[in-house]
Amino acid sequence: MGFFDKLKISRLKEGLTKTRESFQDNISKLTKGRTDIDEEFLEELENILIAADVGVETTLSIIDRITEKAEKETYRSEDELNGMLMQVMAEMLLETTEWHPVDFDAELPAKPYVILIVGVNGVGKTTSIAKLAYNYNKAGKKVIIAAADTFRAAAVEQLGIWAQRAGVPMVSQGQDADPASVVFDAVSSAVARDADVVLVDTAGRLHNKSHLMQELAKIMRVAKKKIPDAPHEVLLVLDGTTGQNAVAQAKEFTKCVHVTGLVVTKLDGTAKGGIVLSISRELELPVKYIGVGEKIDDLQMFDREKFIEALLGK
Ligand code: GDP
Ligand code: GDP
Ligand code: MG
Repeated sequence: MGFFDKLKISRLKEGLTKTRESFQDNISKLTKGRTDIDEEFLEELENILIAADVGVETTLSIIDRITEKAEKETYRSEDELNGMLMQVMAEMLLETTEWHPVDFDAELPAKPYVILIVGVNGVGKTTSIAKLAYNYNKAGKKVIIAAADTFRAAAVEQLGIWAQRAGVPMVSQGQDADPASVVFDAVSSAVARDADVVLVDTAGRLHNKSHLMQELAKIMRVAKKKIPDAPHEVLLVLDGTTGQNAVAQAKEFTKCVHVTGLVVTKLDGTAKGGIVLSISRELELPVKYIGVGEKIDDLQMFDREKFIEALLGK
């Protein structure tokens, strides 16, 4: 493992501290001095997983898998038992997520690559855009941000400040402008300037859901006028601290918008990061990025092995 990989894992570990500590702590209490698995053990494990917001369905799969293994295998030590538990949890994640690039400097499938960011208010859309812009820019890609959240007061201004920090240009027409028109401008500008990535911020109000969905549909229609297969990616941002609520929210969105991937934010602020273990399975969508802090470099491309290592590794 190279220096930068190690650095990434230690940052990830730091970001996941709350989940990691409670998870590891509870599991090591459970396995302390044990080598066998009985009803009581399974019941307690189920409670730990549910408390970490792994979700009922995934928790039951984990319990089933462990029951199956325990019937066939014997464990000579607490460490062996622990190792088996970690392995089963890792398998949950490995099974349910598709492969995708793990580096910002990897070649993108289209140019410009248009990414639409959607999600309800406050989940971290704008912050995640800033982080994506920063990372893609740092990796040598030419980035343009489109300020298509024109509904909320100060949204454009907030995005402008982040764009500056990330060192990338922003296309905007101010508050109350037609978001689709902003996107048309941004995409045109990206084509003219030979940009690599266009990141589109959108409004997240849900009090008028049908209006919001119409707005997103119009944005997509207008982007296609300039680039027929845009947007190439629609990322739904979910707040990891809201646990199973995030799943319910996502189900509403996926009914109306063709989402291609998830960004799970605020994993630093919660002991319920177990949500990441179940969210792909429940939504049949890959987690592509995770947010582990409020700063511009607190976003990582989701890498299953690194995530499991950061969460469960000693
Ligand atoms: P939006 O309404 O979806 O655009 O959300 P914002 O990007 O404005 O973020 C809402 C709040 O969440 C802000 O206070 C952000 O600093 C905070 N936030 C976003 N991502 C993260 C994260 O990964 N960790 C933490 N701790 N806070 C975050
Ligand atoms: P409408 O407002 O419902 O008629 O939606 P449209 O699909 O016609 O476009 C929405 C917005 O995107 C418009 O207000 C324009 O600002 C912008 N737009 C769409 N197509 C074009 C185009 O071909 N050229 C330019 N300059 N702007 C466009
Ligand atoms: Mg915002």
